[in-house]
Amino acid sequence: METQFPYNQHISLYYPLQASQYANASRWKRDHLPRQALSLFFTMWIFGVLMYLIGSTILYHTVFDKSLMKHPRILHQQIRQEIKQGLFAMPVMSILTVPFFLLEIRGWSKLYDFANQEPFPGYSYLQYPLFIFFTDTGIYWIHRWEHHPSVYRFLHKKHHKWVVPTPYASYAFNPFDGWAQSLPYHIFPMLFPLQKCAYLGLFVFVTMWTLAIHDAECLSRSAVINGPECHTLHHLYFNYNYGQFTTFWDRLGGTYRKAKGDELKHKNE
Ligand SMILES: [Zn+2]
Ligand SMILES: [Zn+2]
Repeated sequence: METQFPYNQHISLYYPLQASQYANASRWKRDHLPRQALSLFFTMWIFGVLMYLIGSTILYHTVFDKSLMKHPRILHQQIRQEIKQGLFAMPVMSILTVPFFLLEIRGWSKLYDFANQEPFPGYSYLQYPLFIFFTDTGIYWIHRWEHHPSVYRFLHKKHHKWVVPTPYASYAFNPFDGWAQSLPYHIFPMLFPLQKCAYLGLFVFVTMWTLAIHDAECLSRSAVINGPECHTLHHLYFNYNYGQFTTFWDRLGGTYRKAKGDELKHKNE
């Protein structure tokens, strides 16, 4: 076998790791497209399920106000229903997301390794607010579009089954809905440079954020941050607070509703 694929060229940038003698023995070579797709699918599915279950369980047992489980708008065995929907959505979302990650690992994105490869000095800091602003904008408009009567029924209705959401509601949606709302995260590195480590960190961050805004607990009273208090109002009153990270677009688009913090206690019907 003369044509050896240059293995470990990416990992070796960070850590010198020799490919084992068996690296080339597999029938499906490591750069074989179906093998890459399958590996990405399982990695994403398993990693996603773990973050969802562990994250929401920690939130449920720490900040979540468990007295809400007696709220009149909580459904029968709601958490069980939410987890079931979440676990069903995960593998489908993973399949739909594989093409984006394939494009990335095959070099079609603007991902870069080290700060000295940044397009201009200071960009490695700028990438974070830029990523948040870009994805916040994208999610706001996609989410608003999903509330359009002609789309809502097919795509987004499942997620609004939870009028009083628990942290387990965060990924309890129609998988196509979750995928649509995750599009900005995958479009960003195609359009803008993004450091690989930052991307991994942001991936964990956005997952945790999505869990946290379904916590129903008033964690902040910030007028700028779209926290759990804002997203809980979205589940309660429906046509407000479509944003993900900030209230910027809701304010601009006239859909902002300020949380008083006690809505869940008074809205019994
Ligand atoms: Zn919604
Ligand atoms: Zn929600």
